Amino acid sequence: MTRPCILLTTASRASPYFLRTDSLTGQNYSQAVAAAGGLPVMVSSLGLEIVDDYLDLAAGLLFTGGADLDPQRYGAEPHPQLGLVDPERDAFELALYRGARARGIPVLGICRGIQLINVAEGGTLQQHLPALPGTIQHEQVNKGAALVHTVRLEPASRLARALGGAAVYTNSFHHQAIEQLGQNLRATGQTGDGVIEAVEGMGDSFVLGVQWHPEMSWHEYPEHFVPFKLLLEAVRHRWLTATA
Ligand code: MN
Repeated sequence: MTRPCILLTTASRASPYFLRTDSLTGQNYSQAVAAAGGLPVMVSSLGLEIVDDYLDLAAGLLFTGGADLDPQRYGAEPHPQLGLVDPERDAFELALYRGARARGIPVLGICRGIQLINVAEGGTLQQHLPALPGTIQHEQVNKGAALVHTVRLEPASRLARALGGAAVYTNSFHHQAIEQLGQNLRATGQTGDGVIEAVEGMGDSFVLGVQWHPEMSWHEYPEHFVPFKLLLEAVRHRWLTATA
């Protein structure tokens, strides 16, 4: 197999017409992973006994966007504006993340995914950004690929080096964000209102989280292909060093 297997997490959503629950995520995540050279494989949020078998298969992991994390996971009570939560998905993704970190499997998190990474590393979330004075609009009205705010990047970050600049203009579809940063993470991107929009792992293995949605924008804006390219580069680098 020449394409490394990249597991993509999914949301669980009731489908009343079929009287069933569907496991869903945007096809655009799979398209971006495939374009970067990976084999995208979407996984259902199942029982934790299956996590290790999934990780045996995984060359990389992509935590996709979706519902709010249950604030119980970071020791908080629910804010009045907390959205839908998906506790089974939380449990499954946290176990996947911890297993991936133990094995050194490269991880990319997008939107909910950066929040999942932060909570897995012991951090907390801001549950509703519009309730904070001075925040800009992070739940944009224009849909899809449209770019709306500037994220300033740490010059030494993987993202800034790959982008060749210290800022990136991004879309924004989130009402939550990182509050207290988790262990083993550094904040590598922020908007002007101080909201953390990018994190990277401090260890040797690849961990990248972005709060925006590059999977919506990479067709129109090549710079938004960079997170997927970096994930696949890390996966291939790990393969090469493992077989050297
Ligand atoms: Mn934003």
